[in-house]
Amino acid sequence: MTRTDLLGEIAWIPRPRTTALRRLGIVTVGDLLTHYPRRYEDRSEFAGFPHEESDQPICLCGEVIKTRFNHFGRGKRIFEATLQEDNAHALSQPLVLRWFNLHYVQKMILTGQRLVVFGKPRRRGQRLCMEHPEFEVIENDEEILIHFRRITPIYPATEGLTQRVLRSLVYRLLDEYEDDDLVGVLPANLTNDSSGEAWRQIHFPSSEQALMRARETLVLAEFFAMQMRLSSRRARFQSRAGAAHRGEGKLLEAFLRALPFALTNAQTRVIEELRADLSSTVPMNRLLQGDVGSGKTVVAVAAILLAVEAGFQAALMAPTQILAEQHYLFLRRWLEPLGVRIALRTAARQEESFLPLLEGEAAAQIFVGTHALLYEIEGLERPGLVVIDEQHKFGVAQRARLTNYEPVPDVLVMTATPIPRTLTMSLYGDLDVSTIDEMPADRGRIVTAAREDAKLPDVLAFLLKELKSSRQAYIVYPLIEESEKLEVKAAAAEFEKWRERLRPFTCELLHGRIPAQEKQGIMERFRRGLTSVLISTTVIEVGVDVPNATVMLVENAERFGLAQLHQLRGRIGRGPHKSYCILLRSDSSPETSARLAVLEQTNDGFVVAEADWEQRGPGDLLGTAQSGLSALKLGNLRLDAKLMQKARSAATGIFRDDPQLANPENQRFLHLIVEEEGKTFSHVS
Ligand code: ADP
Ligand code: MG
Repeated sequence: MTRTDLLGEIAWIPRPRTTALRRLGIVTVGDLLTHYPRRYEDRSEFAGFPHEESDQPICLCGEVIKTRFNHFGRGKRIFEATLQEDNAHALSQPLVLRWFNLHYVQKMILTGQRLVVFGKPRRRGQRLCMEHPEFEVIENDEEILIHFRRITPIYPATEGLTQRVLRSLVYRLLDEYEDDDLVGVLPANLTNDSSGEAWRQIHFPSSEQALMRARETLVLAEFFAMQMRLSSRRARFQSRAGAAHRGEGKLLEAFLRALPFALTNAQTRVIEELRADLSSTVPMNRLLQGDVGSGKTVVAVAAILLAVEAGFQAALMAPTQILAEQHYLFLRRWLEPLGVRIALRTAARQEESFLPLLEGEAAAQIFVGTHALLYEIEGLERPGLVVIDEQHKFGVAQRARLTNYEPVPDVLVMTATPIPRTLTMSLYGDLDVSTIDEMPADRGRIVTAAREDAKLPDVLAFLLKELKSSRQAYIVYPLIEESEKLEVKAAAAEFEKWRERLRPFTCELLHGRIPAQEKQGIMERFRRGLTSVLISTTVIEVGVDVPNATVMLVENAERFGLAQLHQLRGRIGRGPHKSYCILLRSDSSPETSARLAVLEQTNDGFVVAEADWEQRGPGDLLGTAQSGLSALKLGNLRLDAKLMQKARSAATGIFRDDPQLANPENQRFLHLIVEEEGKTFSHVS
């Protein structure tokens, strides 16, 4: 029997079982063997019956000496079974098991049976009880071998299949399993174990150590498959016909000379990385990571100018109208004097700079637009470079579609959401990564302070002081209502409140329901300093750049994730002035304090990202759209970071030496990629 055999073709598995398994997506032997236990119960030794309640669940074995049920309330029933310790002695105290309104339990448990139960003992009056414990009836002594007297696997709850049935199936499969090596699953330098042994141990561990070791092997196999898929995607992209898109650099030099600041070392380094990519005919597919305010735009423009000078068009894509307009203004300001023609393409506005056209030239050299327009830009015929800003709002599938151009343009995606390294490796493992890990030197410090609501008067006084010295401020409140009507109403109420408080300073309101045209005007007035305070939902989250704004006040800060608060904080501290991020919270729990303290203690986005990840998991960090990582059955990206690193080096090594996997000894890995691509494909469509 091997991992690809179909369960439906194994004679001893009853038909209804295969049907139930198929409903869970379990079709092959491999599927069932990778249906890993959710946890284990150490039944090698059962605990003695407890005398006190505890928060630690315990596993006990005993005999049912009495059952009964009580009524409580209307039509509600409690079923109780009293369990006695196997070798009861004078001090033994029976344990009462209780189930509320689960009448089927009553049919399963009879006086005289022996039960294994797992749960937390609780004191209820004089008695010790377990409420809704997990339980198994011991039916015969043969079964003891599989289900008891060992570290016993407990599987994820499955409809139509009991723990007992699953366990017996897996036990017998493992007994007959022959495909006893990991060839085709893991390269030999990653493990000495065989797959059969690892699978045996993960389901029926002989010891804690054996379990750990088996888990490590299987996590490696899982990670390796993922990294092989990513590496193959990268290899495939690089094998497409590309072109060199690098001009001489005169235009870039002129741009840098005109800028009122010098580049940071990190910016210079990244520009060199981009220059190298642009020189090569291998298509570029690079991720640029850099904390908010680290100056990614300048770097993107540098790359764009190299492509433009080489005679290609370039596109710069932003997730929102506001950001697209902001980029457009920046480009016009710095590049029009150099004779570069720029066009804006958003749903709300189409505009072209009005430089005289030279004969035979395409209308615009640089197109700025929103992500939505990426594939429909009229006039964009020879994109040499596509830059996508704020990539975390932009799906993998959309990225893939860029390769529809022929030859493939170079692609640069930028994100201000610092991502922990392991996660980058997993999410963006098919990209090359550049990181700006240094802030411009002229930045004022950002002080972050979490305050309780009650401190609002002090906060207000402080805010007014800043406004009096001609600084500007953002006030952000969380969206509470989903419905459009309520949202607009909540925003309006919020706005009135603040306008009262901040008199005579001018305030404006910005939220998602304001029409694009109007939003534009509001942003523009704030940028020019005509408005002192912007009261807003998180629409100002990404990319907005107003150096004179020095206060970011966030209401109900406890409702935001750390990474999101860090993004918001990135709106300030963009000029030379000292800036203040004030996190008002209406919840005084220690958890909230601990969470917000992370922001008070560090301005480093990567540290914040790690903390956020630890607290909330990757889904929250990246938005669910990107967590195509949920397919992992065993590995934990954060806790198993070292294993991911190992798997990655192995996979990239294989593709470095053999990008097509043409080598006979690498043929055995092909199935990993085909298998995985199959999944990705259905996910996209
Ligand atoms: P982000 O990386 O968040 O997109 P921006 O590109 O918007 O950051 O840059 C933030 C601000 O810093 C802008 O006003 C930009 O002009 C300025 N800036 C960029 N690089 C430097 C630098 N080396 N020195 C000083 N200011 C810089
Ligand atoms: Mg930006």
